[in-house]
Amino acid sequence: LLEQYAALHDLPTVTRDGVALELHLNAGLLVDLPHIEETGAAGIGLFRTELQFMIASAFPRTNEQLRLYRAVLDAAGERPVVFRTLDIGGDKVLPYMRAVEEENPALGWRAIRLGLDRPGLLRSQIRAMLKAATGRELRVIFPMVSVVDEFDKARHIVERELTHLRRHGHGLPERVLVGVMLEVPSLLFQLDELLARVDFISVGSNDLVQFLFATDRGNPRVAERFDPLSPPALRALKLVADAANRHGKPVTLCGELASRPLEALALAAIGYRKLSVSPASFGPVKAMLRELDLSAAAALVEPLLADGASPASIRPRLSAFAEAT
Ligand code: PEP
Ligand code: MG
Repeated sequence: LLEQYAALHDLPTVTRDGVALELHLNAGLLVDLPHIEETGAAGIGLFRTELQFMIASAFPRTNEQLRLYRAVLDAAGERPVVFRTLDIGGDKVLPYMRAVEEENPALGWRAIRLGLDRPGLLRSQIRAMLKAATGRELRVIFPMVSVVDEFDKARHIVERELTHLRRHGHGLPERVLVGVMLEVPSLLFQLDELLARVDFISVGSNDLVQFLFATDRGNPRVAERFDPLSPPALRALKLVADAANRHGKPVTLCGELASRPLEALALAAIGYRKLSVSPASFGPVKAMLRELDLSAAAALVEPLLADGASPASIRPRLSAFAEAT
C-alpha cells in the first residue's frame, strides 16, 4: 500500500490551490517508528503511551518508559512528537491492574481522572518523558480532560517534575509544550478558558463523536447510527478549529476521521490544517489533499453547516464534489 504512494514521499502536502497542510502519524509502539521515514510524515501527532503498558505483563518501570520515549524522539529527529499520557480505563484495561467494577467504564475512572487520583503513576511517566527529551523539545497532552481545572492540575505535575529534575542537576528539555486532547464535549463550552491556558490542542474525534451522539464507538449496533459527516458533528469540530485559530493555538485532529480521505477533505474545509493519521492512511489522505481545491470545498461546506441547514449527512454532497475533481 505504501509503495503505491512512494512517489508522493518528497512532495509537499499542499492543496491544488496552494494551501499548506501538515500530515502527522499516529503511533504507539516501536514497530510504528519506521513509518515516519517511509511516509515522510511531518511528525508524530499522537503517541499513545498506553500501548506499551497494555502489552507488558507488569507496570513498565520509569526506565523502560524512558527508553521507549527516547527511541521515539530519536526516530523522529527534528520532527515534533506529541506524547499522550496514559489513557487507560474504559475499553483499555491493563491485565496486571486490579479492575475496578464500574457500570459505565467509558464514563468512569479512566485516563487523566485516574492519573490525577493516582499521581505516582502520572509523575513517573512525566519524569520519563522529561528525561527522554533532555536537550530537545517535549510535547505532552492529557487524555479525557473534561474541565480546565484538570488541565491546571496536570500541568502543575509537569512543573513539579521539571523543578525536581532541575534541583537534582539533571539535564532538561529545551522546551516543554503542554496541551490537551479535546475529546469530551464539555470542553466545547470552555474553549476560551482552555485555549488561554494550553500550548496546543489535539482533537480526539473518536471519543468526541462517541460522547456527542452517546453512541459507543466500539459497538457496531450503534456506532454507525450517526454520520460524523453531518452538521451536528462538523459544527462541533468547526467550533474547535475556529476557536483555536482565533487564539493562535495550534490544533491537530488525531481521531480516525482524519484517516479517511473524504472525512479529511471535510476537516480541511472547516479549517483544520494539521491532521494525524494511521500509517496505512497517510498516502491516500495525502494524495487526496494534493488534488483538493480547498477554497471550493470550503465554499461548498459553509452553507451546508449554516444555521437552518438540514441536519442530515452531507456525505453525498462531499462525495459528488470529490468525484467531480
Ligand atoms: C480519539 O479519541 O479520537 C483518540 C485519538 O484517542 P483514542 O482513539 O486513543 O481514544
Ligand atoms: Mg480518545
